[in-house]
Amino acid sequence: MRLKIAVLAGDGIGPEVTREAVNILKAVAELGSHDFTFHEGLIGGIAITTHGSPLPTATLDMALESDAVLLGAVGDNKFNALPPDKRPEAGLLQIRQALGGYANLRPSIAYKPLAGSSPLRPEVTEGTDMLFVRELLGGLYFGAPRWWNRETGESINTMRYTKAEVTRVARVAFELARGRRKKVTSVDKANVLEVSQLWRDTVTEVGKEYPDVTLEHQLVDSMAMHIMNTPRNFDVVLTENLFGDILSDEAGVITGSLGMLPSATIGGAVNLYEPVHGSAPDIAGQGKANPLGAILTAAMVLRHSANLEADATAVEQAVRKVLDAGYRTADIARGSSQVVSTQEMGKLVHQALVEDIDRRQSMHAV
Ligand code: NAD
Repeated sequence: MRLKIAVLAGDGIGPEVTREAVNILKAVAELGSHDFTFHEGLIGGIAITTHGSPLPTATLDMALESDAVLLGAVGDNKFNALPPDKRPEAGLLQIRQALGGYANLRPSIAYKPLAGSSPLRPEVTEGTDMLFVRELLGGLYFGAPRWWNRETGESINTMRYTKAEVTRVARVAFELARGRRKKVTSVDKANVLEVSQLWRDTVTEVGKEYPDVTLEHQLVDSMAMHIMNTPRNFDVVLTENLFGDILSDEAGVITGSLGMLPSATIGGAVNLYEPVHGSAPDIAGQGKANPLGAILTAAMVLRHSANLEADATAVEQAVRKVLDAGYRTADIARGSSQVVSTQEMGKLVHQALVEDIDRRQSMHAV
């Protein structure tokens, strides 16, 4: 398997957590004799300092020539006085747009040993393993007209979708559900919004192509409650842009720390992989960052860009094994857990992964 990976570590804790994610990908490549190459580029504050732009042309060209982009995080307080389009975060928005991914995937998993890290009771979260598929290029965030007239005190945004836009993201959700528990929950507000009626009709139509997958529809307001009350009932959750933005953050609470959450954006020219968290300037350079969100993001690279499902699962299992053994970074530490640094956590996962892959390979050889 050949894979050209653009590594854009960015700012703050970005380089710290990305290093650990890359080590995991290198281990998978070495153990499976895959040809993974890594090409580093600058984005965000570091790119402004070095090249005067949050997304230099060289970085964008390199990203577009790659098979996958692994991004750390961007953001640096020293640029806070700059206008929004000149700040580090502009680099992120620009690269997301240039790569053109329309399906944003965000898993929300309750890891048993982290039950105390979530504000929800363990008996509510236990067994939760849901995957949000959020439409990323349409809806209220992009629809026209949009304006704010300060003189008249009126403003407008437009929620707009075409059937084609809904169809393509629905297919992603159904395909992914086939590899999981075969259930799609589509979220809308069809009792009020015409856009949601189009959404519901289209998803229902696409669902007929997948008779092996159960489809249910939920209104967004009741879905917000169900996520808190019965999260384990959900498998793949399909949403439009705004609803997914809000609900996937809400569901992130189930896992317990921002540092644990991975994401992938697929469907465009090149898939983009990034942990959900930002550059965390408050803990940058202190070895306190949790690298598990970035490492789980690496697992998504293996699953969605390399088609190495067994290796992706092995990385996820290695993370579980390390958590089961009681190791924690500071953000997820409770009581008697053993607190380790970013690098130590990365090494522990690496070790658990290598043991697992070695064991599988020797079983294969017998
Ligand atoms: P943040 O995600 O950086 O941090 C929020 C809180 O979570 C902080 O207390 C931080 O210490 C903690 N945290 C985040 N990731 C962690 C990890 N891996 N391990 C342990 N603790 C972790 O969000 P913020 O503080 O609102 O923003 C900081 C900067 O990051 C800003 O410049 C913001 O614009 C930027 N940002 C970037 C992204 C991105 O690159 N995708 C996302 C969000 C924010």
